[in-house]
Amino acid sequence: MEKRLFLDLSYEELAEELKALGEPAYRTQQVWEWVWRKLCPDFSAMTNLPLSLREELSRRFSLDPFTVLAKECDEEGTEKVLLSLPDGASVEAVLIREEDRNTVCISTQVGCPVGCSFCATGQMGFVRNLTAGEIAGQVLYFAKVLEAQGKRVTHVVVMGMGEPFLNYEATLKALNNLNDKRGFNLGARRITVSTIGVVPAILRFAQEEKQYNLAISLHAPEDELRRKLVPLAERWPISQVLSAAEAYILATGRRVTFEYVLLCGVNDALKHARALAALLRGKLVHVNLIPFNPAPGLPFFPPDEGQIELFRRELLAHGIDVTVRRSRGIKIQAGCGQLRSRVFREK
Ligand code: SF4
Repeated sequence: MEKRLFLDLSYEELAEELKALGEPAYRTQQVWEWVWRKLCPDFSAMTNLPLSLREELSRRFSLDPFTVLAKECDEEGTEKVLLSLPDGASVEAVLIREEDRNTVCISTQVGCPVGCSFCATGQMGFVRNLTAGEIAGQVLYFAKVLEAQGKRVTHVVVMGMGEPFLNYEATLKALNNLNDKRGFNLGARRITVSTIGVVPAILRFAQEEKQYNLAISLHAPEDELRRKLVPLAERWPISQVLSAAEAYILATGRRVTFEYVLLCGVNDALKHARALAALLRGKLVHVNLIPFNPAPGLPFFPPDEGQIELFRRELLAHGIDVTVRRSRGIKIQAGCGQLRSRVFREK
């Protein structure tokens, strides 16, 4: 029997599986806790389960989908791994350690169909969607790393390889499992999903009962430039993306973060800042400016510090709430898709 990935199950699906095996209802909580709270790596170590059940679970399920292909750390504690899956696909995940938080950035697809011109992943093309277990498993990987140091994952950002809203079901299932109070119990407000603006999915996300945060990667204040940077954006013009963001704000009362990668000489002029401010003024939004993280083979560079500051001030002057997000781990190529590109270039 081919083993299934245990992490692909929701709590309710696990309950069905155990019921079919003739187990009493309370076993569901026991098994769920071993996996999602105690981070147990092996069914045989689940000592309050009967031996026969431990053996049956081992026959049916695998607990860890990954083999670590490459790992890089920097002196600030940012840690990036390239994780290989049984079918040979590989994805990146990053742990960013800060004083009061440990954030894990996870991938939702192998490659990405969006094809952003400034992104290493975008240049690889699309291979396949990850399953819910392969998505949540990246968080559990780092949760185990942190547990050994007496720490916990405090935040998750879905900003790695892939467009999460083009793999909506699996992404939401993974997040719901991480959020489930009976196990991993990571608060919904500590989880952020970042999209390039898949309008139908934003509208659907607005109706979810969870309080997950939404970030939208805009990267340009006008459609023509945006289509050059984010080819898939052709399907959803900026006006539609903004309307969907408004619908999300209206439905949830929550602020939307707009992400804007700053590319020297491309989208970093003051006229771009003014156009961006005109789009967002008066809305419950925040802008995250992300100076481009240089990558081999990509013809872009970050603006200098002076230009970044001018851009930030221009937004502020127009009443836009703005921060500059410094790219942690530049030395370890923590930009999305960069470690994978390098590993496969070297092979
Ligand atoms: S930036 Fe995000 S959406 Fe764009 S190609 Fe890269 S992974 Fe895909």
